[in-house]
Amino acid sequence: SLPELRLFESLQFRCRVSPHAIALVDGDDGRQLSYAELLEFSGRVSAGLAASGIRAGDRVALLAGNQLETFVLLYACARLDAMLAPLNWRLTEAELQPLMGNCEPGLLLFDPQFADLAVRLATHQGAPCRPYAAAMAEWRQTPSHWPPSGTAGSEVPVLILYTSGTTGLPKGVLLSQAMLGWNALNTCRSWDIGANDVGLVHTPLFHTGGLNVSATPLLACGGRVVVVRQFEPSAILRCVAAQGVTVLFAVPQMFKSLLEHPDFALADLHSLRFCISGGAPCPVSLIRAYQQRGLVFKQGFGMTEVGPNCLTLHEHDSEMKAGWIGYPNSFTQARVVDRQGQTVPAGRVGELHLAGPMVCSGYWRNPLATAELFDGKWLKTGDLVLSDAEGCLKVVDRKKDMFISGGENVYPAEIEAVLLESPLVSAAAVIGVPDERWGEVGCACVVVRPGYSETALRSFVSERLARYKQPCHYRELESLPLTPTGKVKKSLLRELLSDAKFVDKFS
Ligand code: ATP
Ligand code: MG
Repeated sequence: SLPELRLFESLQFRCRVSPHAIALVDGDDGRQLSYAELLEFSGRVSAGLAASGIRAGDRVALLAGNQLETFVLLYACARLDAMLAPLNWRLTEAELQPLMGNCEPGLLLFDPQFADLAVRLATHQGAPCRPYAAAMAEWRQTPSHWPPSGTAGSEVPVLILYTSGTTGLPKGVLLSQAMLGWNALNTCRSWDIGANDVGLVHTPLFHTGGLNVSATPLLACGGRVVVVRQFEPSAILRCVAAQGVTVLFAVPQMFKSLLEHPDFALADLHSLRFCISGGAPCPVSLIRAYQQRGLVFKQGFGMTEVGPNCLTLHEHDSEMKAGWIGYPNSFTQARVVDRQGQTVPAGRVGELHLAGPMVCSGYWRNPLATAELFDGKWLKTGDLVLSDAEGCLKVVDRKKDMFISGGENVYPAEIEAVLLESPLVSAAAVIGVPDERWGEVGCACVVVRPGYSETALRSFVSERLARYKQPCHYRELESLPLTPTGKVKKSLLRELLSDAKFVDKFS
């Protein structure tokens, strides 16, 4: 059996090693918390939560922008064996209601800008709610009679993180203390980061990318986490220099906005040990642009269900294997299988399965989706990949997005990469649509740049892709429906395309 890895105890341990080291910095207003202050604050908040009736197993939901306090709240929940459920405030009320119904919180904390929404959601659910800042300020002042530490094993969940909702409704992934602990160990060891590193968190803390890519790992190994409210290119560039950021994670779309910002060329980025892109396929041209700027650029692959850091492509492979996602991290096991569950040889496409101590136990109150998620110890990622002879992996596409045209498997991601190489389009998504002759054919939805013509784009594509891969239909859109982290919501795009009015308008 594996050793217990409990969050609050891990924080107590860090306080013995380096109590005065800075754990968290607010990148917007400069507030700081040392490890000792983080421990003390979290202990008091655990007392405040207990006094509010929160017990082991209860959920504390959160509708709030990025802030230091969310880490305090996470450790406080961990002390009580309660669960934190940070909700995606970008969702509409109609989208949030089922999430509230799913997590049934014993308390909902909210930022002032979400007050009306939060009160309506909580009233509908019959749950108590409180302004987040006022509650945290009050609890911080209360005498520090910490409630006894929870006694459940580290396998109990401490966090419900909803998936990005790229392929459908967001699912509540149950993350245990052990899983967070192993993700931290896996990340620190695989990326070689430690107490001297400074991470910058600008992606939302309600997703695994914000909370778990660099933040929880750095807090586990005594590093420093700088939290900013949101991603804003010039502020991010300034913050890297001002805070001496060493590790910068972002999704490809954000790396693209940084690169295109006028401040990028002259920004002082010398503190950066590396940039790491993940969450979606990263265009090779983007990787090259960062390398040309003299920056180390890694690739990462992960998902909410397995912690965010499952595979890494390190810099020494980035030339030879640009566009690949790399090798399994220290504690990650990976296999690539066909429809029958048989391991496929190198060079053949199959579904990626992952195993290891970072794998979640399933989805909260969703036994059907949980049952579909596993094949024994293996978690089925739903991603199609192939490996080379050395075991390096490349994402081909999501299983749900692949379509079959005239008997050939077509992977839209490959076509999108080609479309994005063209100067005529700024964004592109391809989906399979029914076709009498071929079964299915590709429909390319493109956001166009000045000078665009369908004929020119068709000829660009025909020089680069086999005929069966070339989209039959092209639709110009003003924008693509995106998740907060910049992934195209293809299920929504499919709905839009099957909508007669939409087709009329765009055909
Ligand atoms: P949902 O499960 O709700 O549809 P989601 O899968 O986008 O949403 P996340 O857990 O945030 O939710 O994202 C994980 C997925 O992101 C992976 O399964 C994979 O499809 C994609 N992904 C992550 N990293 C990469 C990468 N480096 N390259 C390509 N795809 C990636
Ligand atoms: Mg998913």
